[in-house]
Amino acid sequence: MSLQERCEERVRELGLPTQGQLTIAALCEHLSRHLGKRIRLLPLPLPQGSPDGLWVHTPDEDVVLFESRQAPIHQRHVIMHELGHLICDHDTAPVMTPEASRLLLPSLNPALVQRILGRDHTHSEAELEAEQVGDLLSTYVNSWALQQEWAVPPELVDLANRLSALESPRSHLKEK
Ligand SMILES: [Zn+2]
Repeated sequence: MSLQERCEERVRELGLPTQGQLTIAALCEHLSRHLGKRIRLLPLPLPQGSPDGLWVHTPDEDVVLFESRQAPIHQRHVIMHELGHLICDHDTAPVMTPEASRLLLPSLNPALVQRILGRDHTHSEAELEAEQVGDLLSTYVNSWALQQEWAVPPELVDLANRLSALESPRSHLKEK
């Protein structure tokens, strides 16, 4: 089975409603129900040099962080890509030090951050797969959802400020 066929099957198995109908939030709700896990999207002003998106897996929830200041069309692409990793259940070694994950996600116990995945723009099979699945997912999203404005949730303003103060969090991130 080719990569394309495998990705199409994965997305088909999700049993998503008609294409072009969902908002991004509705898509996440559907995925949460189907995969039996809580999925949260967190827009944050990420420091320069950090990835545009991150997927953080914990036992309680899966969090997709994305850059809040980017154009909606780019944000959507990043979110779909990270959801692609999530759906494919890509296994990644922890790439963040406990210190870095505490800075990024102080509300989470660093020991619980089992996997974190940076958007690394490599051409590994996992990246290609996430990209393909993300592309397929985005066909289910209503393009008007692009107009959606993301606000940083009040409880995360402190975290956003802390992130902005970080000079180069990328140095804490090891390439896979
Ligand atoms: Zn990726």
